[in-house]
Amino acid sequence: MSYARVLCVGLVGMSGHVVEVEADLSVGLPAVVLTGLPDAALNEARDRVRAAVVNSGQHWPNRRITVNLLPATLPKQGSTFDVAIACALLAGAGELPLQPLEGVVVLGELGLDGTVRPVRGILPMVAAAAAAGLQRVIVPLENAREATMVPGMAVGAVDSLRRLVSFICGGHDLLPPPPPIVAPEPRGPDLADIAGQEFGRYAIEVAAAGGHHLSMLGPPGAGKTMLAERLPSILPELDDTSALEVTALQSIAGVLPADGRLVRRPPFQAPHHSASLAALVGGGTGLARPGAISLAHRGVLFLDEAPEFANGTLQALRQPLESGRVVLARARGNTEYPARVQLVLAANPCPCANPGGEQFCQCTALVRRRYLSRISGPLLDRIDIQITLPPIRAAQLMTTAATTEPSAAVARRVAQARAAAAARWAADGWLVNAEVPGPHLRRQPWRLPPKATAALRAGLDRGSLSARGFDRILRLAWTIADLDGRQRPSGSDVDEAAQLRLGDAHARQAEH
Ligand SMILES: [Zn+2]
Repeated sequence: MSYARVLCVGLVGMSGHVVEVEADLSVGLPAVVLTGLPDAALNEARDRVRAAVVNSGQHWPNRRITVNLLPATLPKQGSTFDVAIACALLAGAGELPLQPLEGVVVLGELGLDGTVRPVRGILPMVAAAAAAGLQRVIVPLENAREATMVPGMAVGAVDSLRRLVSFICGGHDLLPPPPPIVAPEPRGPDLADIAGQEFGRYAIEVAAAGGHHLSMLGPPGAGKTMLAERLPSILPELDDTSALEVTALQSIAGVLPADGRLVRRPPFQAPHHSASLAALVGGGTGLARPGAISLAHRGVLFLDEAPEFANGTLQALRQPLESGRVVLARARGNTEYPARVQLVLAANPCPCANPGGEQFCQCTALVRRRYLSRISGPLLDRIDIQITLPPIRAAQLMTTAATTEPSAAVARRVAQARAAAAARWAADGWLVNAEVPGPHLRRQPWRLPPKATAALRAGLDRGSLSARGFDRILRLAWTIADLDGRQRPSGSDVDEAAQLRLGDAHARQAEH
């Protein structure tokens, strides 16, 4: 026999496709030819596979070897196909029986010494194999826990090509996957660590309850980062679908912890302002990798010192914020990743970033305006909550009774508010208030009585409030009512919402 076929899986973005690895050995000058759209890394597979086969004590067939990956139209990347290629060509050469690999998906990279190395994206690959009706998979030992997350899949693990060959020839067994770790997922920083900061705490509670994007203006040390980091701790745990998506994205990016459990906590990503466009939205050579905005999918994307980000990178966020997806154009086809995030921006009021706040600032009004205008209007337009935090000393002075309510208590209120909103908008398909279009809230039956919105309408007439700003305050008012367990927003809910939109009046007084 001079032909053999072994199954593998290729990934494009989040979606896996079963790939047939064919090997044909014929008489002719000894050579290895790879066909089927291989990228550079796959071409290197030729040398890796050869060294691994020889160093595993196998005989290298000195014939003309053609390895073909099907379907040819599917872009393929990386080193995931190494082990399958080695098996196919050894079986094609008659060194291995093919029967034990019938209907088995083989995944893994080979080291030159014949060790089987872990690869990224095991979870979506194994899930794709299961979706294609396959039930057995052989994976690198380090990836085995992750592979067992896919229900109904029989997972065998290997640490070396030598072990795999021995298994196929009827010698050793495969290794069992390590048992999953049962300890609960770490919860991350807790709101109980923050004393005071009532206004900031309230803002992130409303943001969590309504799914609203949030921007915080304030001098260094005002607690912007501490607040943002704690937003995930008051968001609900991920449901099954979201947990699978988030875990798969971390697997593809190679940042999934090796503990073999689904990610249930909403993720938190805080890329530095020097981050490249590729780091932020995704990219890289070959097929594109997910960026911070996709790693924050179903969680929080925090951009600290937002005006310091290069203009193009902030602009690139607008489209994904709109659609909840990132589409990365590549010569060999587009790659798409989900990117439904809650955005939190933080900024110092001016470039000098004096921790004492405005009274120590030497910047002119023009410099300050220019600095903040680096965050473009269209981006700010999407942000429902825009607050100003006081400098830390003023904040401490203003704090009479230190609030140290833990995240768990706040999370309960957030969950109730979210349930109320989801029930109200169920017929329209919206989950949180932030998704509700403004005109919908201005129409019956959701239009608020004139008395409740009198101050807002006066603001509109004076020109101190835009139509979009008006809609955002309405959305926030519904979230505030949901948090307080009211059926409809009252006039005071609207007033409170306006505070979250226009910044805290107290904070402003404290600064001047
Ligand atoms: Zn300044």
